[in-house]
Amino acid sequence: MTALRDSSYYFKTAEIISVGTELLIGQTVDTNAHFLSGQLTELGISTYRHTVVGDNESRLEKAIRLALEDNDLVITTGGLGPTRDDLTSAVVAHIAGVSLVKDTAVDDELKRRYSDKSRFDFSFYPTIPEGATVFMNDNGTAPGSLIIFLQSDQRKAILMLPGPPDEMKPMFLKYVTQAMEPFCRYRFIHRYVRLTGIGESSAERLVRDLIDQQDDVTIAPYASPGEVVIRVSQRLDLNSDVDLTAAVIEILCDRLGEYIFEVGPRSLEQVLFDLLEQKQATCAFAESCTAGLASAILASVPGVSGVFIGSIISYSNQMKHKLLGVSQEILTVEGSVSESCARAMAAGCREKTGADFALSFTGIAGPSGGSDDQPVGTVWIACSGDQKTKAVEFHFNGNRERIRKLAVYAGFNLLRRSLLDL
Ligand code: ATP
Repeated sequence: MTALRDSSYYFKTAEIISVGTELLIGQTVDTNAHFLSGQLTELGISTYRHTVVGDNESRLEKAIRLALEDNDLVITTGGLGPTRDDLTSAVVAHIAGVSLVKDTAVDDELKRRYSDKSRFDFSFYPTIPEGATVFMNDNGTAPGSLIIFLQSDQRKAILMLPGPPDEMKPMFLKYVTQAMEPFCRYRFIHRYVRLTGIGESSAERLVRDLIDQQDDVTIAPYASPGEVVIRVSQRLDLNSDVDLTAAVIEILCDRLGEYIFEVGPRSLEQVLFDLLEQKQATCAFAESCTAGLASAILASVPGVSGVFIGSIISYSNQMKHKLLGVSQEILTVEGSVSESCARAMAAGCREKTGADFALSFTGIAGPSGGSDDQPVGTVWIACSGDQKTKAVEFHFNGNRERIRKLAVYAGFNLLRRSLLDL
């Protein structure tokens, strides 16, 4: 491998091929590709494609050859074990034009670990493409390997890793990263601007000119329920330190400021938690249509007990009356999905729990229960603090799960804004 090393050779693009029929039939989720893409990003290597292929020799060979046409580096995971359907090593050795050989260091280690030879027959397994750099598997038997070879006068690399994530990940972090670093020429800067209260297309409309003009810095919005994240990325030569992303972030803040809750990695629940801690304030929730979801999401933040007092899940009108003191008049005249009910729920929750701030959620998550006046997705959310109670009506689209999630994040944002006096 070292013979092929020179400073002009580096890994620019990669394809990850996950091998295993279990991935194609829906038995296992391909988490390896997700992990490896993140790692490649850290190493400044662009992932061009994820491929999943079954345990089939000819299809695997075709997939690897296709990947090598477009990329300098191909990473496979899976198919390295001792069973008949583990074909990756043989296919890769064939493509690289080398034989499969035993590795003495690996063999010695396996013999030491598995002295009871009846469990495994190591006479034919594991084998490695000749000339490859070998990575020990500390949590299993199949080693990883990196082979660099010439294909039509071009250098190509194939990195083979085991399939089980608890073998692959530690191997990658402990051995592979270090071995790849000499072949990495770029690093990436990724910054994240996080927005809530605005949809992906509206956010994109406000920054479309920047997206159209992008050159050295790429701007990419993507959405998940309750959040739009705009990723601002720049690829830097390892020797260069000119960061062009800061100026772009500034423009985004100017244009989208009112929707931005974070420039960085934190989720809305984390931002809310940090803000509550900073202000030394506590919160509690009165949950009707969200039925505990707001509490569950906030409680996923470690250390939340310092700021989160608890929740009252008041799904029925009876519970809204009994536990939160919402009057029968409000419930019968205005109904449970109304501004007055949301306000009374929040005020009652604050009073019963003693929290500094209380959020209430009451609405129609569907799919039934909607009407012309109050379609599915109508949700009233109120935030009660010592100064005032603020109530907002929302109209969310989507299925039941999405509506409930959107309500939670809209509520978190309302509380965040109250804490900031916005
Ligand atoms: P082994 O030595 O265990 O045979 P291997 O390299 O041959 O390792 P596979 O047999 O292909 O790996 O996969 C073993 C198991 O690892 C699969 O049944 C699956 O549970 C898990 N696995 C494989 N590939 C992936 C993947 N891409 N994402 C998540 N899990 C995976």
